[in-house]
Amino acid sequence: MPRYEYRCRTCGDTFELSRPMAESSAPASCPVGHDDTVKLLSAVAVGGSATPSRAPAAGGGGGGCCGGGCCG
Ligand SMILES: [Zn+2]
Repeated sequence: MPRYEYRCRTCGDTFELSRPMAESSAPASCPVGHDDTVKLLSAVAVGGSATPSRAPAAGGGGGGCCGGGCCG
């Protein structure tokens, strides 16, 4: 299960939560119980554009069409 880092805007603490990706943007409470938290970007490389870009996985076969040459 992926881990996400959050920061509490009330006490300024940062904490990590392990939760499903589907709940990555769900509200999270800090260990103290504050609800005013923001999700921090993890170590995932994020570009400045709105287009999501993923580094090609080693060995390919990630399910994408462009990995196996079927895109022409
Ligand atoms: Zn807090």
